[in-house]
Amino acid sequence: MQEHISDTDIVFVGGGISAQLISRYLKIKFPSKKITILERNTHGKWSPGESTVGVAGLFLIRDLGLSTYCYLNHLPKNGLRYFFQNSEENLSIEQCSEIGSNIFPVFPTFQLDRKRFSEDLWKMNSDLGIDIKLGAEVQDCDINQNYQLNNVSYSLNGQIYSLNCDWLIHATGRSGKILPNLHSKNPVIEDLDHSISAAWGRYRKVGDLDCLGSKSWRKRVGFTSRYLSTIHCMARGYWIWIIPIGNNIVSFGIVYDRNITESNHSGIEVDINLNESLQTSEGFDCFIKRNQVVSQLLENAEMLDFQSAEQLSYRREQFCHSDHWAFVGESFGFIDPFYSPGSDVISRQAYLLEHLLNSEEDKLEQTVSMFNQYCHYEFDLIRELYVGQYEGFGSFDVFNIKGLWDFHTYSNRMIWNFYDERFKDMDFIRREIDSAPVTLRLTRAIQKGFIALSKFLQEEGTYYGRNHGLYSLRQNRFRNEEDILLNYDEARSLEEHLHICQLCICEMLNIRFNLNELECSGFVQENLNFSVMQTFELSDKWMISFCQRLGKSLSRHIRRQYDVKLDFHISTEDFQMEMPKSIIASLPKDSPKRKFILEAVKAIWTSKSNNSVLNELVIPPKKTSI
Ligand SMILES: Cc1cc2nc3c(=O)[nH]c(=O)nc-3n(C[C@H](O)[C@H](O)[C@H](O)COP(=O)(O)OP(=O)(O)OC[C@H]3O[C@@H](n4cnc5c(N)ncnc54)[C@H](O)[C@@H]3O)c2cc1C
Repeated sequence: MQEHISDTDIVFVGGGISAQLISRYLKIKFPSKKITILERNTHGKWSPGESTVGVAGLFLIRDLGLSTYCYLNHLPKNGLRYFFQNSEENLSIEQCSEIGSNIFPVFPTFQLDRKRFSEDLWKMNSDLGIDIKLGAEVQDCDINQNYQLNNVSYSLNGQIYSLNCDWLIHATGRSGKILPNLHSKNPVIEDLDHSISAAWGRYRKVGDLDCLGSKSWRKRVGFTSRYLSTIHCMARGYWIWIIPIGNNIVSFGIVYDRNITESNHSGIEVDINLNESLQTSEGFDCFIKRNQVVSQLLENAEMLDFQSAEQLSYRREQFCHSDHWAFVGESFGFIDPFYSPGSDVISRQAYLLEHLLNSEEDKLEQTVSMFNQYCHYEFDLIRELYVGQYEGFGSFDVFNIKGLWDFHTYSNRMIWNFYDERFKDMDFIRREIDSAPVTLRLTRAIQKGFIALSKFLQEEGTYYGRNHGLYSLRQNRFRNEEDILLNYDEARSLEEHLHICQLCICEMLNIRFNLNELECSGFVQENLNFSVMQTFELSDKWMISFCQRLGKSLSRHIRRQYDVKLDFHISTEDFQMEMPKSIIASLPKDSPKRKFILEAVKAIWTSKSNNSVLNELVIPPKKTSI
């Protein structure tokens, strides 16, 4: 028999982290709304999503009132840290080149024990007035158009119930085809171009990273805790995460790009079928221990659980609909865990849902259309950071540049926008959609550069060249986050964006064309504007056209200053000189202005860049003397 339960305003189908965070936010914003969560489990479960980054950290402490709770019950996170191996993966942790920080992050982020987090949030949200029904398995729903209530049916303790609601929020994670009625309205779009898979598990009695190394190795990070960082053991085609989640339990996982690991011609160092081996806990345990860093930590450890997922990346056609339904968290989609983005996306979705609930019915269609566009744009943008990039994950040289661009852009644009509460402003979302094509073009150009750089280093045989014994403090970008708290504005953020793009393009060109500190040249910087950078390719062809541009720009400078028409031709060798070679030849020897023009050219050519990111953040990698 089906029993009807009284109406509610919002129903969340699924009570995982997305439902818990978003429902809490909405209850705080709309205290009088009735919110119900239907969750099939009765106990929390360990699941991935343990590491939070800046946006989610802010959301937890600023918007959800969970600061004290997180500090007292979970682990504060000491940023992200990367270790690079040689091709045999047999370097000890001290020998691996490392990218990290020696200061603690300014924005609070946490490593969450997801099991505990779920159970605590169920209790805390219930105390806030959210109706949480544990053990309630949802069967299906009816979506009613024309402002009629939606309806959900679920089973609980052997009984079938039905529940009417104004908004239905699908939050069942990657459970796929649950709610056939709704699933057919909003099908999954596969993302086979980004063919990544993962396997993971938790261990206890794991070695303490902070007791492993020598004193000088610990000193180089200012004795800050490496244990509390999200550790990434990097390799070509895959990476292994190490995340402590409290009570001496540590999560280990591997994420790999099947396009690379399955390619016979890839020359990859993986000599087994990863997909097959990583289906079982034994295969997983055995494979991750091939990396000496992991085997050092797992020497006396015991495995507690194991899970795997075959195809991580996908998305739904729509985030929300004017028939009052929305898909949040992994129900909407997922790309890649590399930068721990899951709870960040959830935080932004909470803001979008607040808008939807505030929207007048006659404007809802328009808002829905805008949000669907925004969510797809955001998905496409974040996806650019990952697709094809596993190619370069094994090389310190590649990632030292890519990591800087990805992180700096993240804190400078994503955290700044969230910190400044721009998601509350519909005009901001509209502007983001309008500028999406340009943003995507620029991001794509730079990210393709990283792939081209990886391939170049492989061809040159120098891919692993600097994986031994270096450390880079590029994660000290936290300084930039400190600025965001103190004295930041949109103009500064845009300037930093320009500078980080210029800097990273120059660093790639340095390696590709064997140049020296191109990023320090004010003249090069002046000519790398946003529209030029959108066309960037790490290739001979692009470099030739950029040199032509420099030649024309130099000619223009001289024409303006001295009213002399000259054609300057620049080549890559000129970057090592005081002034381009061709200039001396192209100036008539008897010209009365010759001396002044040469001086002017030299001044322009050797002018120093005012790149704020370079000046404040970039410390060249150091050789360790451990
Ligand atoms: C390998 C990997 C690593 C990741 N690492 C990170 C990370 O470090 N940081 C990060 O922020 N994100 C990470 N993510 C993403 C993160 O896991 C997700 O963002 C997050 O778990 C999504 O939460 P959710 O609530 O949407 O789904 P889930 O947490 O899966 O919750 C869904 C809930 O719905 C319930 N449910 C399902 N069907 C029904 C039904 N019919 N009736 C009732 N209840 C139902 C389930 O029991 C479950 O509790 C990672 C993801 C993967 C795959």
